[in-house]
Amino acid sequence: MNDCLFCNIIKREIPSDIVFEDEHTLAFLDINPNNLGHTLVIPKDHHENLGSTPLATLTNVMETSQKVGKAIMKGMEVEGFNVIQNNGSVAGQAIFHIHFHIIPRVSDDGLRHWPHKKYESPEEAAAVAKKITDAIS
Ligand code: 5GP
Ligand code: ZN
Repeated sequence: MNDCLFCNIIKREIPSDIVFEDEHTLAFLDINPNNLGHTLVIPKDHHENLGSTPLATLTNVMETSQKVGKAIMKGMEVEGFNVIQNNGSVAGQAIFHIHFHIIPRVSDDGLRHWPHKKYESPEEAAAVAKKITDAIS
């Protein structure tokens, strides 16, 4: 057993409730769901986060996320879902094997979106946009 929990789930060394599996990806229930049916989609190759995962792998993970999202709507009879992917401890990432949360949503389920902030001025927004643009490689 290695020390990555999700690699061990892929190898069936740790049990999980598997929803879907193909050559490149696995989808299984989150053990502490935000709503029933909350599913995690992961690549079978170990990569830590969005920045370090090859695009071909992300394509596979997105394909499975789309399948699972549609199946959650149909199978769990919900009207929508959130896709969430945390990068870094500061963003709430606890397991460092990239994963996408597919969270079923029903009205009045008590889940709230994060509070919004405001830019002080158009100049501040433009300066922030420039910082990001300049850093794109
Ligand atoms: P993160 O905070 O890293 O984005 O999300 C990690 C998720 O993994 C959490 O929502 C947590 O409930 C889930 N999780 C942690 N340990 C286990 C486990 O042993 N089995 C399953 N199925 N999910 C887990
Ligand atoms: Zn792993």
